[in-house]
Amino acid sequence: MENKFSERIRRLPPSKFVEVMRLTMGRPDIIRLELGEPDFDTPQHIKEAAIQAINEGFTHYTSTEGLLELREAVARKLKRENRIEADAKTEILITDGGLGAIYAAIQSLVNPGDEVLIFDPAWPRYFQNVLLVGGVPKRIFLEEKDGFVPDVDEIKKHVTKKTKLVILNTPNNPTGAVVPKNVLEEIGDLAVERDLLLLVDEVYERIVYEVKHFSLATHSNLKNHIITVFSLSKTYAMTGWRIGYAVSHANIVKAMSEVGAYANPCRTSFAQKAAIAALDGPQDCVDVMVKEYRKRRDLMIERLKEMNAFSVTKPTGAFYLYPSLLLDIESPAFTKQLIEKAKVAVMPGIAFSTKGEKYVRISCANSMEKISEAMNRIQRVVRQIMKS
Ligand code: PLP
Repeated sequence: MENKFSERIRRLPPSKFVEVMRLTMGRPDIIRLELGEPDFDTPQHIKEAAIQAINEGFTHYTSTEGLLELREAVARKLKRENRIEADAKTEILITDGGLGAIYAAIQSLVNPGDEVLIFDPAWPRYFQNVLLVGGVPKRIFLEEKDGFVPDVDEIKKHVTKKTKLVILNTPNNPTGAVVPKNVLEEIGDLAVERDLLLLVDEVYERIVYEVKHFSLATHSNLKNHIITVFSLSKTYAMTGWRIGYAVSHANIVKAMSEVGAYANPCRTSFAQKAAIAALDGPQDCVDVMVKEYRKRRDLMIERLKEMNAFSVTKPTGAFYLYPSLLLDIESPAFTKQLIEKAKVAVMPGIAFSTKGEKYVRISCANSMEKISEAMNRIQRVVRQIMKS
């Protein structure tokens, strides 16, 4: 059967996420700290906007680029929160979540053989999407000692004549690192100098703690070089609604829109109405969630440090911890033991990095009570490993 599959599909590596999911599926006894989605419910006023749209019969095709009314709400939000000026009619595209924007950008811009620079560790979908179009993902490794922040000189070393695109993600999944403004600006200057394109994934923009998020698209002269991706998934606990958006040069937006249309002629009509309510409506729901993630992060850091089995870098964004194991065990075996012995699921670092054998990603997307219990259970397994 496999020989009938396209080469495109055959070059994709097996997903490490799926391996963990297989072990946790149908197991309500397991405390889930491996998931990459908010545990909160979508705020009520957002749900009501969708219900109202359905009741009013707003259930048909919409335009491929997304409802103009939503693109206008996005333009207002970009100006208000990100300081990005964008024309709602030509420079903004509504997509199937942040991933829909990433897929459309890579499909539109990357030719077979083009090199794409991706920092490692990273969300694995970047690599997979580049491989899907026959592009060549080139890893630039980030170090724990540098707080997993990229360095512009490292990027320079990796740029060749074939380099087309650089993918950045801030705040970062899995490390939680937020790239400082000055580093982003240096990367922006390099993109202009070397005529590179930048795909900047800012889907965790609102989930930041001690620092401020900065959108590189505001940096001067970058308009022809940057595609910025946002999403409602994480900010408003709307992962299942599949609404994201991209902002870029009008020509890039047009190309992305055409590519997107091949798979899906439009985004879900009533989900777009809900998205308008999310962007234009009260934002205190976001603050409540971020405050809670912060409390959970602090609790997890404290508990992990007490165990003397992890080196923990304090994340300033997103809702993950990416500690390294100080024990004599690698993360795939460790995560398996956690599921079997402690009934706690976390992600092994190898899901995000080819150098992730000593790392695990632990998600804060669970209640304080569950996190506290999970930490007790992890501690017991850690003690057993230390003794053996
Ligand atoms: N980018 C990053 C870094 C992510 O972690 C995710 C989801 O986990 C996405 C993009 C895509 O999110 P969505 O397609 O739900 O907006």
